[in-house]
Amino acid sequence: MKEVLRPTDKAAEEAVRTLISWIGDNPNREGLRETPKRVINAYREFFSGYNLDAKKILGKTFEEVEGYDDMVLLKDMRMESHCEHHMVPFVGIAHVAYVPDHKVAGISKIGRLIDVFAKRLQTQETMTAQIVDAINTVLKPKGVAVLISAKHQCMTTRGVHKTDTETVTKMMSGVFKDDPEMEKKFLMMISC
Ligand SMILES: [Zn+2]
Repeated sequence: MKEVLRPTDKAAEEAVRTLISWIGDNPNREGLRETPKRVINAYREFFSGYNLDAKKILGKTFEEVEGYDDMVLLKDMRMESHCEHHMVPFVGIAHVAYVPDHKVAGISKIGRLIDVFAKRLQTQETMTAQIVDAINTVLKPKGVAVLISAKHQCMTTRGVHKTDTETVTKMMSGVFKDDPEMEKKFLMMISC
């Protein structure tokens, strides 16, 4: 992604003050005085994925797998992101599997990979595809499977108010796509 010129912290705080005034509150009242600073610090964390690089995170791999040739599955990883349409959270669970071809990544690295893409303004569909693509590009495995299930606050707290709706996205590549049995095995393993 091309580097965009970032405004200063001060300009960002000023923008938060503007929003506070716009909703009808007073940014100078005691309880709100420090809020712009806190909001931009929270945003720094929510959107820290822009400073992370998937290739660097997955780059350190292990080649000694001692004949291991089945899927590596990380399931039930908590995932927190913000939708790019409303800038409100969507939170859920991500399951990521791949079948290594010589190279495996440290398991914590797959967890960090989720954050590279989740800690940005996102759509769930795009993020699902980006995770598959990053693992394919760096690890060159025999296949990758990703399934994300999340609740979007733009749906649960505003708009249609469908509070219990979970959005599920899944993407299969390589052996998971070519062999329906592999996809079935993945879906079975994440549901137990
Ligand atoms: Zn939204």
